[in-house]
Amino acid sequence: MNYNKKLRAAADRELERRRHTAESIQRQNREEVLKKLPRIGELERELAGTGAEIVKIIAAGGNVKKSIDKLSKENLKVQEERKNLLVSGGYPEDYLEVKYTCPKCKDTGFVEGRRCDCYREILRALAYKELCGNAPLDKSGFDNFKLSYYPDTRDGATGVVPKKKMAEILTFCKSYAEDFDTASPSLLMYGATGLGKTHLSLAIASEAVKKGFGVIYGSAQNLLIKLEKERFGRSGEGEAEEALLGCDLLVIDDLGAEFATQFTVAAMYNIINTRLLSGLPTIISTNLSPEELEEKYTQRITSRIIGNYICLPFCGKDIRQIKK
Ligand SMILES: [Zn+2]
Repeated sequence: MNYNKKLRAAADRELERRRHTAESIQRQNREEVLKKLPRIGELERELAGTGAEIVKIIAAGGNVKKSIDKLSKENLKVQEERKNLLVSGGYPEDYLEVKYTCPKCKDTGFVEGRRCDCYREILRALAYKELCGNAPLDKSGFDNFKLSYYPDTRDGATGVVPKKKMAEILTFCKSYAEDFDTASPSLLMYGATGLGKTHLSLAIASEAVKKGFGVIYGSAQNLLIKLEKERFGRSGEGEAEEALLGCDLLVIDDLGAEFATQFTVAAMYNIINTRLLSGLPTIISTNLSPEELEEKYTQRITSRIIGNYICLPFCGKDIRQIKK
């Protein structure tokens, strides 16, 4: 099934579930109250007869306004009595009302023929879930990032001591995660494979999730596939794109490993540029050097990244090799 159709069907199911739950709770509450306070049943039957009374008054003619005023006064009295009965029976005033998750649309997803805001919220939440589906957010934390894997001897070519450099990067990432909000700067983590880029970007992402921010995490390849499906699916409404452009934090893992096409280059530029313009943070990790990135992704994208992101050069030896 098409990605958007699938999301919309899931959103409809969620609305139906909310409605069903709210209404069955109300039915249970009502049964409970009627057993305990049978007078409430009588009052409700009286209130239900109001419509028929109005029809009768209009048909009878004469001073219709006066009669209707009188009826509505009686009606208010009955409502008042019902309310007082409930309260004196130890129930809240609104105990017999259906409590919808969204009172605006009563969980129908529509207000006066238009999509309610809650519907977009549901779609957005579903898109996050779908996009982040397989991210191992719980396996990579700051606690299990081990500096002992990094050499503490000076690298002959660069003059850098990897353990020292990585300790700085770890400290930076920790405080970045601690202070994270939607005005945080964007980060570029680059360096060879197996140096902990994915680990630290996941650690930041999971801290942001814990704080309640809307985070999307995915490999560049998977995110682009989702976008491509949406773009070329005929019934697309752009939920995936909207989520990628507007989420509080977007983490793009392994940029440059995907197969680049005209579409992916344009889509990636749009994501990076739009998020920079709206001031939303993005974290990109890549095994490519800035020069290689430029070769793959044009200078236009690379200069946006280098010029506006905080660049973190990861160094050391492939940890996956050391662990073996
Ligand atoms: Zn609503």
